Amino acid sequence: MLRYDLHSHSTCSDGLLGPAAVVRRAAERGVDVLALTDHDEIAGLAEARDAAAESGIRLIDGAELSVSWREVTLHVLALNIDPSCPALVDGLAGIRDGRSTRARRIGDSLAAAGIPGAYEGALRCATSESLISRTHFARFLVEAGHARETREVFQRYLVAGKPGHVAHEWAGLAQAIDWIHAAGGQAVLAHPGRYKVNAADMRELLGELRDASGDGIEVLSPSHTAAQIALFARHARVFGFAASSGSDYHGPGESWVDLGDMPQLPAGVTPVWQDW
Ligand code: AMP
Ligand code: MN
Ligand code: MN
Ligand code: MN
Repeated sequence: MLRYDLHSHSTCSDGLLGPAAVVRRAAERGVDVLALTDHDEIAGLAEARDAAAESGIRLIDGAELSVSWREVTLHVLALNIDPSCPALVDGLAGIRDGRSTRARRIGDSLAAAGIPGAYEGALRCATSESLISRTHFARFLVEAGHARETREVFQRYLVAGKPGHVAHEWAGLAQAIDWIHAAGGQAVLAHPGRYKVNAADMRELLGELRDASGDGIEVLSPSHTAAQIALFARHARVFGFAASSGSDYHGPGESWVDLGDMPQLPAGVTPVWQDW
């Protein structure tokens, strides 16, 4: 049975390893099929593809799109995309534009709370001006002594009600799914257990995902408890979604679970890779 890991990050978004290093690590850890899914970015795929050819593993071209649904930020994985598709390329560029503006506003918000230089600090932690994430701010805040570790940052900063939080409108759900489909890919709701929505709203979200022709949900994610894995496997069956599995690896020391360290999908779900 092949080992799949369909969610990972490189330095092209907020991971700590370059695209080739992510691929090599996955190969060393026994992954057969890896998706590189940088936040709102596909710039790492070419390097990852070359490394995959050398390492003998299969690379799935991917990305993790930031989406706004009601007041909630969702992440939608694009799997098995054609990264040259103009609709997707333009859509991602639009999301990154918004991200740049947001990063400056996060810097302003932290400055107002007495932490100057955060935008510049986050930029130093990032590879590209167009892809600064809260993770980069978190690394800066740790470096500057405002928190002991990134997890602590997300309790005291950058989240609703705390310094460094700014409201932001990402792509629409149906819009993001359309870009992914235009690129021939599958649209998969990432880590559904992470969103702060109640059970009724989750069913509405999954209904909208289905109505917008979304293809799957990530059933296996390190952020899911055993109960959530069972719940989302059931949702996948009931709503007719394929099931995906990914470590959401960000790098040594920053992830609970390493590349390829996922269990088997629960019985009774259709893997998102069924027709690959
Ligand atoms: P952004 O897309 O800029 O809002 O940044 C989101 C990223 O921040 C996620 O992909 C995670 O890598 C990281 N993140 C969010 N919440 C936490 C948390 N509680 N602990 C550690 N990292 C987090
Ligand atoms: Mn991330
Ligand atoms: Mn995510
Ligand atoms: Mn991710």
